[in-house]
This record gives sequence, structure tokens and C-alpha cells, in this order.
Amino acid sequence: ESKRKGKYTYTFYSDDLVDVVRYRLFIEQGLRKALTEESITAFWQPIVDAQSGDVVAVEALCRWIDKDVGMVSPDAFIPVAEETGLIQSIGLHMLREACMLIKLLEERGLGGIRVAVNVSGIQLKDSEILDALNEMLQDCQVNPADLELEVTESTLQSENAAMLLWQINKLGINIAIDDFGTGYSSLSRLAEMSVNTLKIDRTFVDNLSQDARHQIIIEAIINLARSLGLAITAEGIETAEQLQYLREKGVDSLQGYYFARPMPLAELLKYLPDKQQSNKGLF
Ligand code: C2E
Ligand code: MG
Ligand code: MG
Ligand code: MG
Repeated sequence: ESKRKGKYTYTFYSDDLVDVVRYRLFIEQGLRKALTEESITAFWQPIVDAQSGDVVAVEALCRWIDKDVGMVSPDAFIPVAEETGLIQSIGLHMLREACMLIKLLEERGLGGIRVAVNVSGIQLKDSEILDALNEMLQDCQVNPADLELEVTESTLQSENAAMLLWQINKLGINIAIDDFGTGYSSLSRLAEMSVNTLKIDRTFVDNLSQDARHQIIIEAIINLARSLGLAITAEGIETAEQLQYLREKGVDSLQGYYFARPMPLAELLKYLPDKQQSNKGLF
């Protein structure tokens, strides 16, 4: 849409589009700077066993902590990072933080807690990630089974990405399908993929008691996962009612504000040692 602005200026863009471009540029420049200043960091959210309440995994969630703006959520910058290719550096940074945490937990006698990292489809366009993972496993000497990569359904649509994930899985690293049920899934592809876990998207957990359709979808996902031999995690548990329902349906593990919000490393290291006590009360 073209628009006349004052007497001499004439642009082909609406103000909205100018704002979008400006915002994108602002985020991109900020991100580049943030990467060099190391103000991109991981917050960690526990994932608990649905029966015992023990923490079985933690998910790394990217945070950009800007000294002027404060904390920027990934929804605001991951899409821009994907468009600009900066996701490659962010992704490697997050994988390194995950390996460091695995090492740290081992040293503190908390070994065996899986650490999950979100991986964008863009990172699976070439084999850089495979080389990086090989190198990291060597350098950190961590057990690959302690690491889990979370990818979305749409990622599996790419032949190349599926191939890479197969190779990554061969290394012993777990693969989880994130936000399951919200994207496009080829069920035949899913069956032949090397995937270990399905994560039920939190939109289905939301409104569980009011919306019977969500219950039907959740049950269908559980049945599918069971018949494919996959583990099931449900995201976004906020209430005791949701916890109860999902436990009864046989979901393996649970993640949500009801247990813990994503937290910085120092807080996680305080939280984990008495996890047994803290979660037992919730069951
Ligand atoms: P996700 O991987 O599905 O992560 C779960 C999101 O749900 C997180 O949002 C988490 O804070 C939020 N969440 C967890 N429990 C609850 C709950 O009980 N209620 C509600 N309302 N929300 C809950 P977050 O941290 O804002 O991350 C948003 C998305 O950004 C992630 O969704 C993931 O897709 C993406 N993301 C985060 N970190 C990275 C990263 O390092 N790399 C890539 N590629 N994507 C990332
Ligand atoms: Mg995730
Ligand atoms: Mg998710
Ligand atoms: Mg999500």
C-alpha cells in the first residue's frame, strides 16, 4: 500500500510494514551484539516423572537478557534469528550450555537427568550440527543418552533433516517431537523415524476439563505414541486437575508451571537436590 506522507515524502510501504522491518532490524542488530556479549543464556525447566514426581529431565529455554530492555522472550527473537541465520550460533551456544549442565549435574551426584535442547529446522539444513555434536560429546565426555534434541513435526518433513536426525540418534542422543499435534505430521514418516519421545502441546492440556475435544486429541496422541513405542511428555501443566488426568491416562512425564517455571542455573542447582521433597507434596 502506498501512502503519501507530508509534501515531499512518498513511500510504497504502509507504516505497519515499516514497523515490521524496523523491528526485525532492531532485533537482528541487538541479537548480534548479544551473542558477542554473551547475554544469550539458557533458563532451565524441570520435567518430572508422572508417577514418582522425580525430575527426569530439564529443558533448556533460550533467554536474551538485555541490560536496557530486560528479558526478551524467545517468541520475540527466535523467528528473526531463523530468518537471519543467527539461529546457528544461538543453537550451538545452547547445545554447549546443555553439555555443561550435564557435566555439572554429574559432578554433583545428579547424573542421569536428561537435558533437552530445542533445535530449529534451519539448524538441520546442513551437517554442521552433527559435527558440532560429535565434537562436544568428545570434549565434554558426556553420555549422549543424557542429551535430547526437541524438533517440531514440520522439521521431519524435510528428507535431509530426517536423515541428520537419524544420524544424531545413532550417536545415542534422544530425539523428541515438540508441540506434537499442532503441526503437520506424516504418520508413516513418524513410524520410520528415529524418535524417542512425543511432547503433547500445551494447547491441548489447556482447557482440558472444559473442552472434550482436547481430551479426545490427547487420548489419540497417547495411543499413537504407545503403539509406536514412544515415551510421552505433556507440556503446560498448571493445575492439580490436569496432573491427575494425565497421570491416569498414562503419560510418562510432565512439564509445567505447576511444578516449576523455567529458572536460571543457580536456582536450578538449588532446586534439584531437594526435588524429591518439593514435588512429592504435589502428588
Ligand atoms: P517450547 O519448546 O514448546 O517450550 C515450552 C514453552 O512453554 C516455554 O516458553 C515455557 O516457558 C512454556 N511453558 C512451560 N510450562 C508452561 C505452563 O505451565 N504454562 C504456560 N503458559 N507456558 C509454559 P518459552 O521459554 O517462552 O519458549 C517458547 C518457545 O521458543 C519454545 O517452545 C521453543 O519453541 C522456542 N525456543 C526456546 N528456546 C529455544 C532455543 O534455544 N532454540 C530454538 N530453536 N527455539 C527455542
Ligand atoms: Mg521445547
Ligand atoms: Mg513445546
Ligand atoms: Mg512451543
